[in-house]
Amino acid sequence: MSQKKRILSGMRPTGPLHLGNLLGALANWVNMQDEYDCFFFIADWHALTSDYENTDPIKAYRKEIIIDWLSAGLTPEKSTLFVQSRVKEHAELFLILSMITPVPWLERNPTYKEQIGQLSSKDLSTFGFLGYPVLQAADIIMYKPYGVPVGVDQAPHVEITREIARRFNFFFGNVFPEPEVILTRTPKILGTDRRKMSKSYDNAIFLSDSPDTISTKVASMITDPQRARRSDPGNPEVCNVYDFHQLYTEPDTVAEIEQQCRSAGIGCVECKTKMAQQLISALEPIREKRTYYEQRPEVVEEIMVEGSNKASQTARQTMEDVRAAVKI
Ligand code: SF4
Repeated sequence: MSQKKRILSGMRPTGPLHLGNLLGALANWVNMQDEYDCFFFIADWHALTSDYENTDPIKAYRKEIIIDWLSAGLTPEKSTLFVQSRVKEHAELFLILSMITPVPWLERNPTYKEQIGQLSSKDLSTFGFLGYPVLQAADIIMYKPYGVPVGVDQAPHVEITREIARRFNFFFGNVFPEPEVILTRTPKILGTDRRKMSKSYDNAIFLSDSPDTISTKVASMITDPQRARRSDPGNPEVCNVYDFHQLYTEPDTVAEIEQQCRSAGIGCVECKTKMAQQLISALEPIREKRTYYEQRPEVVEEIMVEGSNKASQTARQTMEDVRAAVKI
């Protein structure tokens, strides 16, 4: 049995992964694989909480995300990669936890309020959407992990899981350890229009984008809005392209670009072209692996079947503990 501490995290299959997903989560997961016993899952039931009216793309997105994961460096040799809906115990634990979770805990969830406001075009007044933190708690504590890697804005999600685990233990005995928040470093990266990178804003650079698509997207990026003419000095601090340079370009060249921008020594078109080249080569290894897995869907499927079977073994053991504790 692995002596490493266990961690767990998941992603909803609501679209192909973009640079924000890579830098905000996936790259950290890849780096954590040697230190931790990692469980990573595709949260496909969670996609239903907000997208229940159009479930057509979920399966395709699920496959795309798995390919993105493998291409970015997650590997079944080091991590358990699985699909939530293939481990039915999640639904059973969700049901039991929903019996003990007070509704006001869910109503005060900041993401719930925020999403109801932001996604006003969807009817989110459903039991499933209100209760998604309970499903999330079931997903997490099922594997009794030491911790959950999250960015700072997601820490409240883990907090409600800890509260639900504590309440279960209070009623039924000590079954679940309370998972720790493992705060991960997430570099600043915005979409091409300088809003949060998101598929729904149509401002994302996807891991699956071709070099040509990346070049076109970079060419459309917002720069310093005060720099109207080539001869105007620019301010890299307010420029999205410069933020990307800081992530993908050698520090010496970044320093040069900063100086040249401030003195109007470089134009934005040239600056963008340089950045696009850096970004394209940084993503080249991912693109190569993508091609490999796209051509071998049976390998991808086998990885997910094996991962889901492995996760099911742990989930079955947990549910034996749960049923014994609840006496049902
Ligand atoms: S030169 Fe580069 S850093 Fe300066 S404003 Fe233009 S794109 Fe941004």
